[in-house]
Amino acid sequence: MLKTISKLCSSFKTIHKLYYSSKVLQNVDIEYIRNIGILAHIDAGKTTTTERMLYYAGLINEMGEVHHGNTVTDYMDQERERDTPGHIDFTMEVEQTLNVLDGAIIILDASAGVEAQTLMVWRQADRHKIPRIIYVNKMDRSDASVQMCCTSIEKKLETPTFLLQLPLIENGKFLGIIDLVSMQLLKYSRKERNVTKILLSESEFPKYWCDAMKGRSLLLEKLGDFDDEFANLIISSNSYDTISSVDVIKVLNKIVVQKTGVPVVLGSSYKNIGVQSLMDAVILYLPSPSQTKHFYSAFEDNFCGRAFKVRHDKQRGPLVFLRIYNGLIKKNQTIYNVQREKSEAAGRVYIAYADEFQEASSVGAGNIAVVSGLKKTMSGDLLTSSLSTYHKAQKNFAKLYKETQTDLSDSIFGGTTYIPPPVFFCSIEPSSMASQTVLENVLAELEREDPSLRVTYDSETGQTILAGMGELHLDIIRDRIVKEYKLDVDLGPLQIAYRETPVEQVSEVYVNESKIGKFRQYVKLHLSIVPGATQNDKDILKYDKSPDNASNIAAIFPKQLVALKHGILIGLTHGPKISSQVMNSQVILHWLEVGRGTSETFLSATASQLIKKLLEQSGTNILEPIMNLEILAPSEHASGILHDLARRRAVVKDVSTQGNTRVISAEVPLSELMGYSTYLRTLSSGTATFTAEFFEYQQMSSGDEHIAIKQVRGF
Ligand code: GDP
Ligand code: MG
Repeated sequence: MLKTISKLCSSFKTIHKLYYSSKVLQNVDIEYIRNIGILAHIDAGKTTTTERMLYYAGLINEMGEVHHGNTVTDYMDQERERDTPGHIDFTMEVEQTLNVLDGAIIILDASAGVEAQTLMVWRQADRHKIPRIIYVNKMDRSDASVQMCCTSIEKKLETPTFLLQLPLIENGKFLGIIDLVSMQLLKYSRKERNVTKILLSESEFPKYWCDAMKGRSLLLEKLGDFDDEFANLIISSNSYDTISSVDVIKVLNKIVVQKTGVPVVLGSSYKNIGVQSLMDAVILYLPSPSQTKHFYSAFEDNFCGRAFKVRHDKQRGPLVFLRIYNGLIKKNQTIYNVQREKSEAAGRVYIAYADEFQEASSVGAGNIAVVSGLKKTMSGDLLTSSLSTYHKAQKNFAKLYKETQTDLSDSIFGGTTYIPPPVFFCSIEPSSMASQTVLENVLAELEREDPSLRVTYDSETGQTILAGMGELHLDIIRDRIVKEYKLDVDLGPLQIAYRETPVEQVSEVYVNESKIGKFRQYVKLHLSIVPGATQNDKDILKYDKSPDNASNIAAIFPKQLVALKHGILIGLTHGPKISSQVMNSQVILHWLEVGRGTSETFLSATASQLIKKLLEQSGTNILEPIMNLEILAPSEHASGILHDLARRRAVVKDVSTQGNTRVISAEVPLSELMGYSTYLRTLSSGTATFTAEFFEYQQMSSGDEHIAIKQVRGF
């Protein structure tokens, strides 16, 4: 699973800085900066390794231990308490952080090799095109085998490995590393926590020398098979002896950036062996920001950065975490937010160390900045210094990279990652009515931090509704409200977010008249409702273009149109069947007359009443959320899992094999996945894992609809 330093979910860890103490951070050459993530199966050693890296980087003075509960990076309570399965619930936060990484370390347990969640995070890194290296941890264990690990990487991850180190074992004890790139012995002293590097010589260490020469030959041969340029180098120098470590580093760096193979280093974090050389490997093989993010030079000297996280701090208010791609951000600087199309002013600028913040006057390209004062910026937004800078950068980019790079252009200038619809919801209320306003403020904060959380108010029931991506997601939100905000809340039962869609096209003219106080209110409205997909709310309303109607529509005031649309959207929030959101419908406006002095509220109300009538006439079908399910399981459990899927109305799309693992892909209704994680664990004795992502809404069969209605209504 994954893990992060700057808090969030328990399965993801990012280290924003390695070698540098905070004082020099602002002046660090971009070539020495790496923003990395640490990804691994649970218990492989993410926390332990991170703790060591922070210690050797000089950022902390003492190493915490997992079993003492005093590690720097596991400081969020939920992180220490929960064994979080990395599926639906955390996707958003993890995905957005992965988006701003330059590289990743994948940690393996030397006695286990590639495990189920290793495969999961590997695919996740693939999706975000993250260059990576592999660290084989726990080499001190008697059942450790680096050969087994390499074989399992090649088989299960289908990626060629380049083994750069051999274990240095004396009297059956793991004491250090034989480094095949530098041809050095790395000896570690556990007490002093330091490393001694000794250049290998044939006369002094005949046995190690022999092993190292063999290992190095294998490495160079494989690199030659892999890279033509390197092969030519070997041919022209006629021997491996004249190939320098710089040559080897260069070709490995190229392979890592191209993601065609992966270097493997080793160690035992717990015994303080191999962590310094792992950090060297990060600098040597993972790309610097300037190597892979040079496109941002289209912004010239101007600031450009992407927000990947929002957190509310008790003293400092909302803090926005930014990856700076170009230029620098200064305190009190005005920034332009591309996605919100708004300018706003930054307050203070900080550098984050886990949960501590250090103020800075500015933070430059390649770094992570934490900025206060930004009220409109959401996770995923692109920020630059001004609208004109943004336009200029787009022009520069088009000139430099021509039209061929539309994908790249989208990833640079485009919006946030895709946010799936929240498929679960429940009501939420404070235990005491007096706290209602406090709760509303808390929810507004949480909603900004987490784009996959939606808070709405249901005017029909008078309830506040919390919608999210899963049971655990909403559970954690409740936990945070209780623990961080010290507010007691009750959540209603968890429900699946069904949708309704109109069955057929219907049309009606509605005259609504009333006298409120002295004023006569009058609206004559003619609308049709048409089944059919729409991209978003903006496309819902279409206009009747026939000559008789066009002139009437052309005369409508913009304010009236806004009120009309507002009413239509409200009308669509509750379908007639199970009172759920109506989707896949279009509304056509044929005619509108508004009496003089009629309020916009009255117009809105008329529109929503008419929509309700139309929906009742048309009738609706229920749509249910379908998830894309991917299961990784040892082959001996595959048939049991498939058999069970058939009972869950699943459509199996594909079953493939990766080593001894079966990868099963299926589309399954969300309602059939309640409690699936517990079920799968029992079925496979904990060896299978799954991910579930929203796929689409699908119409239900009348039989299934019947069951759903019963469930929703409770009878
Ligand atoms: P995480 O779940 O990936 O964060 O893994 P942790 O860092 O929490 O480590 C899980 C367990 O493995 C802890 O009990 C660690 O003390 C232990 N551990 C970590 N590194 C090593 C190592 O190098 N050797 C051995 N034998 N145990 C280790
Ligand atoms: Mg841990």
